Amino acid sequence: MKSVPAETDYIVVGAGVAGMRAAIELAAAGRVLVLAKNELTESATQYAQGGVAVALSDEDEISLHLQDTLDAGDGLSNPEAARVLVEEGPARIQELIDWGTEFDRQGTKLTFTREAAHSRSRILHAHGDSTGREIGRALYAKASTLKHVSFWEWEFTSDLCMRDGRVAGIRVMNEQGEQREVHARAVLLATGGLGQVYRETTNPGVATGDGVAMAFRAGAEVQDMEFVQFHPTALYVKKAPRFLLSEALRGEGAYLRNAEMHRFMPKYHEMGELAPRDVVARAIAHELEVSRLADPVVYLDLTHLNAKQVAARFPRIYATCLEYNIDIGTDLIPVRPAAHYAMGGVRTDLHGRTSLPGLYAAGEAACTGVHGANRLASNSLLEGLVYGARAGVTLREEAPVRAGGHAHATPCKAVASSSAASGTRDAEEIIRALRGLAWKNIGIVRTGAGLREAIEQLEKWPACLPPMSGRRQCEASNIFQTALLIARSALARLESRGAHYRLDYPSHNDARFKKHSIVRGDAIRFE
Ligand SMILES: Cc1cc2nc3c(=O)[nH]c(=O)nc-3n(C[C@H](O)[C@H](O)[C@H](O)COP(=O)(O)OP(=O)(O)OC[C@H]3O[C@@H](n4cnc5c(N)ncnc54)[C@H](O)[C@@H]3O)c2cc1C
Repeated sequence: MKSVPAETDYIVVGAGVAGMRAAIELAAAGRVLVLAKNELTESATQYAQGGVAVALSDEDEISLHLQDTLDAGDGLSNPEAARVLVEEGPARIQELIDWGTEFDRQGTKLTFTREAAHSRSRILHAHGDSTGREIGRALYAKASTLKHVSFWEWEFTSDLCMRDGRVAGIRVMNEQGEQREVHARAVLLATGGLGQVYRETTNPGVATGDGVAMAFRAGAEVQDMEFVQFHPTALYVKKAPRFLLSEALRGEGAYLRNAEMHRFMPKYHEMGELAPRDVVARAIAHELEVSRLADPVVYLDLTHLNAKQVAARFPRIYATCLEYNIDIGTDLIPVRPAAHYAMGGVRTDLHGRTSLPGLYAAGEAACTGVHGANRLASNSLLEGLVYGARAGVTLREEAPVRAGGHAHATPCKAVASSSAASGTRDAEEIIRALRGLAWKNIGIVRTGAGLREAIEQLEKWPACLPPMSGRRQCEASNIFQTALLIARSALARLESRGAHYRLDYPSHNDARFKKHSIVRGDAIRFE
């Protein structure tokens, strides 16, 4: 059986939009190994529906896209990171079109839709609601024509390897559980999000926070971990995955109704169903709580819209709901909120550099501060393109391939991540318990007491965690580590801002907390 080479020039962990875009940038500089822990097509990128935001329409301006991004970030976006995103976005999208991405058009003109909190119609979509899949297809088609890029599926990266204080490789595990090291000049983490930390999530199974946990264990700084965006409307059918029902449905006029069939959003916000995501998610959480039903849901209602047009505009949502006997044109759709997007992640500068030499990060795993305390809808595919490309440039400039290869006096050493873990509990059982705890105590609405309880319980877990001998065991460890980082950061932020809402501190505290939270080891600081 073919196995990953023991040595390459650049390692890219992750084959979503950020990893693929970085790999394309790196291809001319040396050998690039792109790893995915499942098949290449299993990533958040593949599930992105609504679209990608970019200031390209006749009615739009880059300055307006910037302002909307900063407004969504609730005072915490890094303005420079947001400026880079919106200014470089149009070129990255044009490049995608040149590489064959088929965005939807009317005649020859690109069609732009509008989503909540965008002041202009600026969302490009592809095949209706399959935007991420089409972008992923085009990026892969481009990358796979490049001679030096090789893709490896089902290769799980369990940890980073260090040499002389520098990240110099990774430890990987194949499907059979066999482990080996791969050494390289530099490593880029593009491992995506962490939704699987929560019991309810729109994220695919691969989103277990591996990049953040790995980087943190190796000593890197992580930032803004308390900011997790909860999507208000995930399909809620028992035993089915929480399929995302895009914001664009409400953009097209869908109503939200509670168990008594009342349209409740107007009582929470003047924008009704088009209020910011966190407001809608909290409103639904409140309606669920006060309903006192055993298994409460609220409903998305599109029955007053033209059923044919709805099916044509949202073909993937239409087909998926139909699998559960729900015709979105004529039936009410049961929904609940679910964890959706991590604004925080491995702290990087605007070029993908982390606080560890040799380690870079991009996409949802990274935190440039671009999204601040809350992400503007459809800005994350764009982030993957813009910052994936930037990280690729940085790796190639800072870790150039020189003649003479890899002669090193000191050996490479894997980070001793799991030496303390010796528990015997089943990984699945641990993951289930951790996800339940995260949903209850570090979810949509938080309190100091709930967060302290979560931390107390989490701190007892290391004794139960099994050694990281298999992939699911590693994921259990990563979920544990990520949940603890979210809980610690959320407890330290004594205010509510963006997606972080504390019942005991319901307002902003700009004087103390208009700052990013940064964690390294046991220390947490705001700056
Ligand atoms: C249902 C859904 C809908 C969305 N809709 C939109 C939208 O309309 N517009 C928008 O802008 N954003 C949307 N988002 C968010 C957006 O899709 C993601 O933020 C973005 O795609 C993340 O890209 P990424 O490259 O950082 O990570 P991903 O696309 O998640 O890719 C992560 C990659 O890392 C690999 N990986 C992870 N851990 C390991 C490991 N330990 N070892 C090896 N490989 C590993 C995975 O296998 C995968 O290849 C949506 C997200 C979801 C879940």
